[in-house]
Amino acid sequence: MSVGGDGNVSSTTETTPALEEPEPSSQPYFDNATKREYTAAVGQPAYLHCRVKNLGDRARSWDDVASRASLDQLMDESNGAELARLRAVSKPEAGIWLHALPSPQLGTLLDNDSLRVAVRLRLGCKICEAHTYMCSMVDAQGRHGLHCVRSAGRLSRHRGIMRYHPKSLVSANIPSILEPPGLSRNDGKRPDGLTLIPWEKGRCLLWDATCVCTFAPSHVASTIATPGAAAELAAKQKIAKYSGLMDNYIFVPVATGIWGHDGKTFIKSIGRRMRHCGLDIRSGTFLMQRISLAVQRGNAASALGIFASDAFRSKKHSFFLFIVRL
Ligand SMILES: [Zn+2]
Repeated sequence: MSVGGDGNVSSTTETTPALEEPEPSSQPYFDNATKREYTAAVGQPAYLHCRVKNLGDRARSWDDVASRASLDQLMDESNGAELARLRAVSKPEAGIWLHALPSPQLGTLLDNDSLRVAVRLRLGCKICEAHTYMCSMVDAQGRHGLHCVRSAGRLSRHRGIMRYHPKSLVSANIPSILEPPGLSRNDGKRPDGLTLIPWEKGRCLLWDATCVCTFAPSHVASTIATPGAAAELAAKQKIAKYSGLMDNYIFVPVATGIWGHDGKTFIKSIGRRMRHCGLDIRSGTFLMQRISLAVQRGNAASALGIFASDAFRSKKHSFFLFIVRL
């Protein structure tokens, strides 16, 4: 999955790209001391033997070498947004939502439309017919909706992301509020949340979440070179916007999509505090899974949101847009 698969592995063989990764020394690896050169007659089978150390009960490592070679070949043959997609999905945390137990009771079950769009965005498959939208050309992968300011789904994505932080902070015995009054920055906007008791060094913590699009034309050049570059840039911009509040508060920009460093550290810290309160050792991982699922739901709403906008309906187009089904 770390090289871009859809996570279609059995539960007994997968390893979670979690915050509590096992020690590298316990990971399976190929023994390079085995014979590497074989001679076989043309048209006859050749049996190549290999030895895997630390295999344990895992099976994924058997195809890691071939998967890595396929990924390298795909990257060599790709450019632009496709290359940015391949680099992004290669980040371990980009696929963490695929490891969540799909449960309606836990709120970790994606509806069919969200799952379909999320998987297709991950694999670079066709979501719709390419067409012209009022502000741009929408390609068949439907990526324009992810960053279009006119998309009806962008607001729900942000709300979906921000609602998990207060819940998890309460679990860690840290009360907090959303959109604290009286803490506006220069443009009048408020941070997403504030802890009501000190986080560290006697100061309370402010956080502000954002979800940046790897495929936005303004980001593609940087995300091709460095996956997550758009998130880091967004985090820096957030820090600059809230610099006036940082004398009295700790400020954390939580950039998701591909996780920024500060946001990931914040989630790890919440997870650690939840564990100290006696909760599951995987609390931080579960939180990251839920936020990642919220991002997938929001991405699906954003990708499909440009079809449902008032502006689109007012045009009274006489053609149909076909949403491609799996
Ligand atoms: Zn647009």
